[in-house]
Amino acid sequence: MTNQAFATRALHGGRPASTPAPTNPGAVVTPIFQTTTYAQPRLGKDRRFTYSRASNPTVSALEATLARLEGLPHALAFSSGMGAITTLLLTVLGAGDRVVVSRVVYGGTTRLLHEVLARFGVEAVFVDTADPVAVEAALSPNTRLILAESPGNPTLELADLAALGELAQRWGIPLAVDNTFLTAALQRPAEFGASVVIYSTTKFIEGHNAAVGGALLFADGDLARRAERVRKTAGTIQTPWNAWLTLQGVKTLHLRLQQHSANALELARWLEGRPEVERVAYPFLESFPQVALARRQQGAGGGLVSFALRGGLAAARAFIARLGDPGHGGLIQAAENLGAVETLITHPATMTHGDLAPARRRALGITEGLLRLSVGLEDPTDLKRALADALEAIPAAVEVTP
Ligand code: PLP
Repeated sequence: MTNQAFATRALHGGRPASTPAPTNPGAVVTPIFQTTTYAQPRLGKDRRFTYSRASNPTVSALEATLARLEGLPHALAFSSGMGAITTLLLTVLGAGDRVVVSRVVYGGTTRLLHEVLARFGVEAVFVDTADPVAVEAALSPNTRLILAESPGNPTLELADLAALGELAQRWGIPLAVDNTFLTAALQRPAEFGASVVIYSTTKFIEGHNAAVGGALLFADGDLARRAERVRKTAGTIQTPWNAWLTLQGVKTLHLRLQQHSANALELARWLEGRPEVERVAYPFLESFPQVALARRQQGAGGGLVSFALRGGLAAARAFIARLGDPGHGGLIQAAENLGAVETLITHPATMTHGDLAPARRRALGITEGLLRLSVGLEDPTDLKRALADALEAIPAAVEVTP
């Protein structure tokens, strides 16, 4: 050892790779295993980990936490929510197969199906997943998956999870539910028969606008192992650093979701009373068309409110410009993310759902005046003041016709 040269001591002086890292020296917080690879003691023998594209101890710690929260036995963490969805679809679908999908879903999911998987012979049929008759009519012998999102991004349209679970079981196909908007703190799709639960952990699970990530939770070990193999092959695993950040966020998930929901309900009720607002959607509002379904399958309404301004695009432009104006406090910024402690606003028609054909957008209720508000943890009084100020900016820019 002592006769090693400077360069060798600089590289191997701290802890030679042949010495296993201490597994638990008493650290209260899970450490970040920031390493690409793991020394193998003998040919054909590893210490469970080989290469961080396949697995990593920090990522495994996040997976174990998410599995316990969901009450499901298997979890995989991904580089993003889209990484999770892509991996799932590559695992279960092949040329000539069909997937039946909620008609209101995140724009990236639609893009993946239309622009990428369609080229490989996968057919996607979009239906109202609150209508079991419409879903069953779309099922066919070559349907390999039902993919639902509830509440759906951005209109918050719900899927009927119990009805979908029953259909999936009767047809012998998996039901995957994107639970990003509520998380296991407020909704457990597996209790309604889902065999796969999907997350963009970028949203409420990490919760601090600090790390992009995704996850899949599985009831079935065989499907989980097949997806893990696709993840290792496609390279869609989460990084140790982002897994660590997500592990910190998840510690307060239940408290955050309670407060996000309370603040969102207060703001939704307040927005309903404003003359500049044409309609408000929030699952626990008495006026929400699916409020009874929401109460059956969700523990609370969640942190998202969607509302449409009278005056369309011009109104949305004026409103967002004023909201973000530092001269007016700049409390609520327009940005693509949601689910974090900071309140953010999104204009789906030009941002998250800008790639959808305008006619399809309109048919789904994604009008040019629609806004998606991710209600954060600021004091709701300050949020209402900022929103009121921005609503007052509208009449100057457009004619508001009630
Ligand atoms: N699923 C839903 C419901 C989403 O809202 C998003 C992103 O907005 C995604 C999936 C994709 O997640 P990510 O942005 O982490 O890739």
